[in-house]
Amino acid sequence: MNAIQAKLEAIRNQYMEALVKADGSESLQALRVRYLGKKGELTQLLRSLGGLPPEERPMAGQALNELRQEVEASLERQAVLLAHAEDEAMEASDRLDVTLPPRGRGWGAFHPVVQTMNEIIDIFVGMGFSVAYGPEIEDDFHNFEALNIPPHHPARDMQDTFYLNSGKLLRTHTSPVEVRSMLKWGAPLRIIIPGKVYRRDSDQTHSPMFHQLEGLLIDEDVSLADLKGCLNTFVGAIFGRPLDSRFRASHFPFTEPSLEMDVECFACSGRNPACRICKGTGWLEILGCGMTHPNVLRYGGIDPDRYNGFAWGMGPDRVAMLKYGLTDLRVLFEGHGSFLTGGGY
Ligand SMILES: [Zn+2]
Repeated sequence: MNAIQAKLEAIRNQYMEALVKADGSESLQALRVRYLGKKGELTQLLRSLGGLPPEERPMAGQALNELRQEVEASLERQAVLLAHAEDEAMEASDRLDVTLPPRGRGWGAFHPVVQTMNEIIDIFVGMGFSVAYGPEIEDDFHNFEALNIPPHHPARDMQDTFYLNSGKLLRTHTSPVEVRSMLKWGAPLRIIIPGKVYRRDSDQTHSPMFHQLEGLLIDEDVSLADLKGCLNTFVGAIFGRPLDSRFRASHFPFTEPSLEMDVECFACSGRNPACRICKGTGWLEILGCGMTHPNVLRYGGIDPDRYNGFAWGMGPDRVAMLKYGLTDLRVLFEGHGSFLTGGGY
């Protein structure tokens, strides 16, 4: 074996040893540079062939080329093997077991207030009422003036109002929709108005945003007896059985006369002095109502000499509290998942 053959053999052994240790595409690239690069060992050896005696050159050149080809081929083969191994390692660490059962999600449910509102709406729709909606940003005319609440009327203080910079306001009740509906449709009229209302008020039993659902019936020859019959039918339907009711004199600017309606406690009928729902009184305040004030009809473009009507308003939040036995209104608005999905609070 001549000197050049010995040298090639040494390089080959050294290369093979390094190749076995190469553990990634970067170390393979380093090997390629080290042996086949411009200054690589085999490249330099090729350049030195010119210094050999002419008779030795062909054989040395051939041996050198064979080694170059061997190095190239083995580098490529090793690159494929390493890439495959890297893929397998990634698949193993990142594996999806498609046979696992899904974790699933709980079923959603309607919010208690929405459930209650839908029930109330269903009952009145069954009595021939239509549902009317209106804007939550209102003007003074629809929210106050047309409802017989002139400037400086004390009812404006009772309804501590959120005013906007534009001079408009967040409606303090759903009654502006009565005005809008009278102006739009005239008489006769039979509507219920569900919606959100806003007042500057917040404690255990008051929220700055809450819901109202009010109704308005306008026709010829409407009497208090019609009002009582309509509302008694409603409370019997919402609490699941006919209940006694009583009406107390009250005052609202937009009705005359004005009444508060109480119903017999659906839980104890007045027989349990320790009842949590009626606090032992046997009665539940349920809504305010009355015969529509002639001024309100006039503002709505309806002739009070020909038509009259009645209106009532209630808080579906309060009805939901009564139905579900809640003591703090705020749970209805705080969005706790366990409460909303029936897990209690
Ligand atoms: Zn009771």
